[in-house]
Amino acid sequence: MINLKRILSIFFPARCPFCGEIIVSEEIVCRVCQKKINLQKIKNTLHTRNGKNFLSVAPFSYVEPIRSAIHDYKFRGAKSFALPFGRYISDVLREVVDITKMDLITSVPLNKARLRERGFNQSEIFSREISKITGIKYVETLKKVKNNKIQHELSLDQRSENVKNVYAVLDKTLVSDKKIILCDDILTTGNTMAECANMLFETGAKEVIGATIANVESKKSIKNEMH
Ligand SMILES: [Zn+2]
Repeated sequence: MINLKRILSIFFPARCPFCGEIIVSEEIVCRVCQKKINLQKIKNTLHTRNGKNFLSVAPFSYVEPIRSAIHDYKFRGAKSFALPFGRYISDVLREVVDITKMDLITSVPLNKARLRERGFNQSEIFSREISKITGIKYVETLKKVKNNKIQHELSLDQRSENVKNVYAVLDKTLVSDKKIILCDDILTTGNTMAECANMLFETGAKEVIGATIANVESKKSIKNEMH
């Protein structure tokens, strides 16, 4: 039998998103890059301002070469990173929760102007990969209702104030009684993630688990975070 995937791979071989090296289709990245990226299982407990606690996980710290990969993914439209990011996040999620019990995957939204300028929501793209990998449906549940200042330009104190009431749930019936995986690209102070989770809980979500590509672990690199 002709294996179409195999024939296609001759003409369009899978490439490592980090260095461009040809890889076999089962691999996510090449072996050299695999050694460079420090795969982790980062867990943070976050708190919403209305008193709910929830877990947020990430496969990476926000350090090289992941930092540059995220930068290219967001600002140079390197969408090929969505697949490896989705795979690594799915693996971490599987280790920390019973994902078969989760109802839906959603992402932190961008405001309309930012979406127009970038052309895509970076968190939505890899969230849809997680959805394909895990079989959990992707649902848009949140919208940005206020244009706030860019988080990385503010002091830590100002950040929690800056995200307050910036997000709203699109339709209560989408989230009510649901167990939700909420995705964002980078977790820094956790304020954005916690505020979005707050809105989901306020409209009846049963459970929220956060998932990001990377967590910023040292305060020094916070100023480099860009949304
Ligand atoms: Zn590579």
